[in-house]
Amino acid sequence: MKGTMKKIIDRNSAEGLLKDLGGEFAVIRNPAYIHPAFELAPLAPRLTGPLDRLSAAVMDMDGTTTTTEELCIHSLEYMLRAMSGKYTTAEWSGLDHTADYPNIIGNSTTKHVEYLITKYAGLLQTDRTKESFAYAALWTLICGKDAKRKQEVHVTLAKMDLVTMTEDPLFRDAAADPASVPGMRAAIGAELFGRYGGRMRPLSHTDLVTLGIDIYYQRYHEILQRIENGESRQISMELFHDPEKRLIQPMPGILFFLPLLKGWLGDEAALFADRLFEEYATKSGHEFPASERHSAASSLASLGRFFEQHPAKLAIVTSSIFYEANIVMSEVFSVLSAQLASVPLSAGRQTLLRAKLQQYRNVYDAFITASDSTEIRLKPHRDLYSIALHQLNIPTADFHRVIGFEDSESGTIAIRTAGIGRCIAVPFAQTKGHNFDAATLVALGGIPEVVLSHNVFLNA
Ligand SMILES: [Mg+2]
Repeated sequence: MKGTMKKIIDRNSAEGLLKDLGGEFAVIRNPAYIHPAFELAPLAPRLTGPLDRLSAAVMDMDGTTTTTEELCIHSLEYMLRAMSGKYTTAEWSGLDHTADYPNIIGNSTTKHVEYLITKYAGLLQTDRTKESFAYAALWTLICGKDAKRKQEVHVTLAKMDLVTMTEDPLFRDAAADPASVPGMRAAIGAELFGRYGGRMRPLSHTDLVTLGIDIYYQRYHEILQRIENGESRQISMELFHDPEKRLIQPMPGILFFLPLLKGWLGDEAALFADRLFEEYATKSGHEFPASERHSAASSLASLGRFFEQHPAKLAIVTSSIFYEANIVMSEVFSVLSAQLASVPLSAGRQTLLRAKLQQYRNVYDAFITASDSTEIRLKPHRDLYSIALHQLNIPTADFHRVIGFEDSESGTIAIRTAGIGRCIAVPFAQTKGHNFDAATLVALGGIPEVVLSHNVFLNA
């Protein structure tokens, strides 16, 4: 890449340059409104085998560090119900786990919504869609807390010729008493639809996707707000009829993995062994082999001592927006703190870890969300990971000392296109059907398997 390189070249020269970019390329399809229809992204050469030293681990949030997919899936299904008026399972049985889940997990929200609007076009009702959008717009502008979301809703209102709707007395009344808004969902939707529905033009496919996105986010953010207010158990009961079901919790192995890499465990890393064997079984569906337990536990102690001397940097890299990631990770860390009590650590170590886990900011050296980029450059594009590497201050010459973790196809592609040759897929139940050709290791036993069975971190 010399300064003399021409800026505009013909196809033959382009093909020549492509050869220099590597031997493997990802084909990334763009949404319909973007030129070109697809682009080719060179993948970093695959790296396997142990490292001399780990500089950083970069990790996805949803499905890799935490389970929030249940909430996203619930909100997507709710979107279709709101757009069709079919709120009960008697009217519509709901999403198809096998056929739908691979298409609605791990990509951008736009892609998830596009898929569902296309597949379930026959279910949707124009009037119910307009009514649900009117309510979602009011809720977002009055009760929502994310400025970027409000901005998006203003854009949609302008597109739909509905700017004057925000001057309706209903908006003023709602602003005076926001807490009453959710209880009046049906009435507000019907009232606004009666007054403004006639002004809206017939909805194209693109309009349906735009309105669907606003309806989806309204539901998702409403639930997040309630979690932030400490209503997790109540929501679990309402949505899943099980108050003990944690909507947001850390993935297996996270309680061990984060403090390990930060160098906070030392010798006491071995005390996590029994917990990791259990989490391995939960994640993979089979027991960790008894014959390997002893040596696995002693290698945990070596890892703990190694990282105490050579701590690694950590980054979260998520396609969720900051507003969501902040609430989700705060909830995850409150669960992690509670889980600490079950590990037989020394009193001193308990105190240290408890203090560190009080705040996710103590653990992450970079916290990259969709709010750092734009919807059209999210995974599988490299941007979020490239921003993370830059913020972690890792020079390109050290990219081989970085490991990326993802649970989805688009995430694994994003890692490799960002120049990271070590890419570990840790799929969970809902992403097992994804294609992980971009990964250099697929660990069905998740992070517990990675730390117990694969010597990827150091040349011990
Ligand atoms: Mg994920």
